[in-house]
Amino acid sequence: MKKNIILMGPPGAGKGTLAKQLLNAFPFVHISTGDMFREAIKAGTELGKLAQSYIDKGDLVPDEVTIGLVKERLSQDDCANGFMLDGFPRTIPQAEALEKICQEIQRPIDAVVNLDCDDKELIRRISGRRVCKNCGTPYHIITMKPKVEGICDKCGGPLFQRADDNEEALKVRLDHYVHSTKPLLDFYQEKGLLENFNSLKGSELLFDEVRLYLGK
Ligand code: AMP
Repeated sequence: MKKNIILMGPPGAGKGTLAKQLLNAFPFVHISTGDMFREAIKAGTELGKLAQSYIDKGDLVPDEVTIGLVKERLSQDDCANGFMLDGFPRTIPQAEALEKICQEIQRPIDAVVNLDCDDKELIRRISGRRVCKNCGTPYHIITMKPKVEGICDKCGGPLFQRADDNEEALKVRLDHYVHSTKPLLDFYQEKGLLENFNSLKGSELLFDEVRLYLGK
């Protein structure tokens, strides 16, 4: 079984939905830098204030901040059973730093799961995306509706639209994806770690394929 994995793909490719499905099937911990920043924003910490100034515009939080956060998280004991990085690394310097961290803590990356999706579909998904304020479960106003409008099926929390899920911020995010994050696909391809999946085929089929690939 592959133990330590990276989940990659452009915003809206379905990383959040797949991550939730995988967490029910595998023992690894979920490390989402986007979630960590959103929690810091909610808690009103210095990190949160700094992150918000970038996130709201769709920009990337500086590498040194993000790398420090991940380094601390990956060193914690609960990562010994495996971890799933989601939204990290997003730049070459982050990927290089991750290599060093993994060597130091002796927890090597076993696989990079990349979700492919075309731009038109990404925009459709992101503009209709709603997220539970309490538990983070993602929905879509047309294709993944909750049973009761505006309410999370799982925990009853209120659904909201992320501040950076607007058209302007999304354009910036897609641009960062193409210029900063996409080059990582070659980086991991060369290391023989990359596996591509088509995220257009529907969340259940996609989950089955990734689950089998990871060894369950
Ligand atoms: P996500 O939830 O992964 O879409 O992340 C939301 C936002 O958090 C991104 O648009 C960035 O502003 C910031 N962010 C998350 N992960 C990273 C990262 N690895 N490097 C820089 N910024 C990040």
